[in-house]
Amino acid sequence: MEEMRKEKGQVLYLVIPCYNEQEVLPETSKRLLEKLESLIERGMISRDSRILFVNDGSKDRTWEMIKELHRENPVYQGVKLSRNRGHQNALLGGLMTAKEYADMVISLDADLQDDIDVIDQFVEKYYEGCEIVYGVRSARDTDTFFKKFTAEGFYKLINLMGGEVVFNHADYRLMSRRALEEMENYQEVNLFLRGIVPMIGFQTGVVTYERHERFAGESKYPLKKMLALAVDGITSLSIKPIRFIVFLGMFIFLCSIAMLAYSLIQHFLGNTSIGWTSLIVSIWAIGGLQLLAIGVIGEYIGKIYLETKRRPRFIIEKVLR
Ligand code: UDP
Ligand code: MG
Repeated sequence: MEEMRKEKGQVLYLVIPCYNEQEVLPETSKRLLEKLESLIERGMISRDSRILFVNDGSKDRTWEMIKELHRENPVYQGVKLSRNRGHQNALLGGLMTAKEYADMVISLDADLQDDIDVIDQFVEKYYEGCEIVYGVRSARDTDTFFKKFTAEGFYKLINLMGGEVVFNHADYRLMSRRALEEMENYQEVNLFLRGIVPMIGFQTGVVTYERHERFAGESKYPLKKMLALAVDGITSLSIKPIRFIVFLGMFIFLCSIAMLAYSLIQHFLGNTSIGWTSLIVSIWAIGGLQLLAIGVIGEYIGKIYLETKRRPRFIIEKVLR
């Protein structure tokens, strides 16, 4: 593979989606600024580098705080979405805004659960020629058992279902402007960035880090949102669930042939009045399977319905720069 080293001192944008993050913003903005300044001092990145907060329709003082930060120091910039559109869309809105000015963009969460000291390694890898660098969690010691179990199960399930995601990589990653320009061509409305980014290709790298606890505020990803993300992830990456239903249908058809043979034999042997149990069990089982199957297919039809509308994925109300 050809090595394409890049010239140092390019423009880095940090993109941070924020939904009701007033508790963490003061600390987060301070720590990110220190990081950015240290990178600038060492000549790693350009003085035009910026920290871009995306306000995803917060109901608290988040946007006011972003405005204050911007007034104090223009290194902080802000994008205000017209309303809450969810993490993935907020992130996309930020990435697409940053792409216009940056050579490379790193996306991260407002709570700094993802270790910001590995940003140096992200940037190094970019200069070594990577267009995309994935941040991968090496340990989840601080996550609760439940979070760890559901989150790791999520990656396994998606890969099993034919989606290609990087294990234990969330949305902490570096993307070059070139990669972002390619990503812009993926126009789907039901967005699952983790599944889209690996499809882009190019030279990629991985950086591992330990995930910390949220230092303030609480998770904006309750179980309901996690499940929605999982369903979105699977259904927007693969049609394996539908294929699975087809096989299940075939299997049940074969079973019913066997049952037919069995009942005929029983009939000729004269044992037919018993069998209420097996009857009732199969009615419930088949009924349940049919509902499940219709549900899965419905999920895809719903998705087609939403995609055909071609609605905008985010609407930017205001940009501070
Ligand atoms: N977030 C967002 N919009 C939402 C929900 C979350 O922009 O509707 C942001 C949130 O502010 C944070 C990031 O997404 O920066 C990840 O959320 P969180 O840390 O609560 O998730 P967890 O780490 O618990 O999975
Ligand atoms: Mg978090």
